[in-house]
Amino acid sequence: MISLPKAIAEDMVQHAREEYPRECCGMLAGKDTTITKFFKIKNIAQRMDEYELDPLEQVDAFEEIDRLSLKLLGVYHSHPNHPCYPSGLDIHQAFYPDTLFLIISLNKDMTGFQLKAFKMCEGKVEEETIIFD
Ligand SMILES: [Zn+2]
Repeated sequence: MISLPKAIAEDMVQHAREEYPRECCGMLAGKDTTITKFFKIKNIAQRMDEYELDPLEQVDAFEEIDRLSLKLLGVYHSHPNHPCYPSGLDIHQAFYPDTLFLIISLNKDMTGFQLKAFKMCEGKVEEETIIFD
């Protein structure tokens, strides 16, 4: 279970809409199981349907997370026109077993979205409940 403030969820969806049809990505930090801060990170992937967090922006975010005595709780990215479920590549690239992966799925018409959290470890995927505060 992870607690996500509605304002941050809205900002994440907004970020996904700004980057559409490319994938957006970012980091989520907080304490225990509550997310309190999000960081938009530049997606440096070459392909349209992949994401790779800019390493320099990632370092800046980690410094800020340390400075605020927070912990990295999750990494998010969007799935433009794709189901709200980790792709084969997402599962393959899931290097942090203690970190949640949040996916925002958007359709072309932008009217709706899905936001889900997953735990991925050694090829296994488990959905995690999000509580929107
Ligand atoms: Zn993905």
